[in-house]
Amino acid sequence: MQYAIPAWELPSVPIAGSEARFPVRHIYCVGRNYAEHTKEMGGDVTKEAPFFFMKSADAIAPVVPPAVGRIEYPLATSNYHHEIELVVAIGRSGVKLAPGEAQSIVWGYAVGLDMTRRDLQHDMREKKRPWDIGKSFAQAAPIAPIHPVTATGVLSRGAIELDVNGAARQRGDLSDMIWDVPNMIAFLSQMYRLEPGDLIFTGTPSGVGAVKAGDRLEGRVAGLTPLSIEIVAPAS
Ligand code: MN
Repeated sequence: MQYAIPAWELPSVPIAGSEARFPVRHIYCVGRNYAEHTKEMGGDVTKEAPFFFMKSADAIAPVVPPAVGRIEYPLATSNYHHEIELVVAIGRSGVKLAPGEAQSIVWGYAVGLDMTRRDLQHDMREKKRPWDIGKSFAQAAPIAPIHPVTATGVLSRGAIELDVNGAARQRGDLSDMIWDVPNMIAFLSQMYRLEPGDLIFTGTPSGVGAVKAGDRLEGRVAGLTPLSIEIVAPAS
């Protein structure tokens, strides 16, 4: 293949216990999927259909312990928020799936952070404009290694937690999701053909908040490799 400009590396995520990596195609994210977080965002907790937004695949920022990921405080925000999330990695193509078929395309799981420029997201929300500027930017999706479902089994319950500088910030359980993984995949697959390499960020429990340069974040989901990052001042 000959390209007109130098090609970049395919975005990818390490796999726990393997030298192989998981290539990333699309990053889908679910909004307001835990009741307590929906309330803190000013939303209605009645069970509406789930809604989705996307991040660019190259927003992925893989972190492998014992390393601590260095994540630069992003441009153009003064309200930079953490959202700890279970990430589902898709390993097979699937479209118009029933909830009972959805688990069959899940390849694995990882701990991720849906980092958010909350001020920009809210500005856009108020103006009824797209959220992209608040959600998709450099290093907006830190992620720990992916664990194959063949090793973990199906994840439908278990603690999901985030600490900032050693203090508890977010505490939830995967079983608190409004739309569980099979149902969200079924919904999403009515709108898109899901493809190998797609990632789905499955929503965050309550306790989201702002971070600043120097803050150390540790995210955990029971049974998965934890995710540690430090927010650093941008290189000028
Ligand atoms: Mn989120």
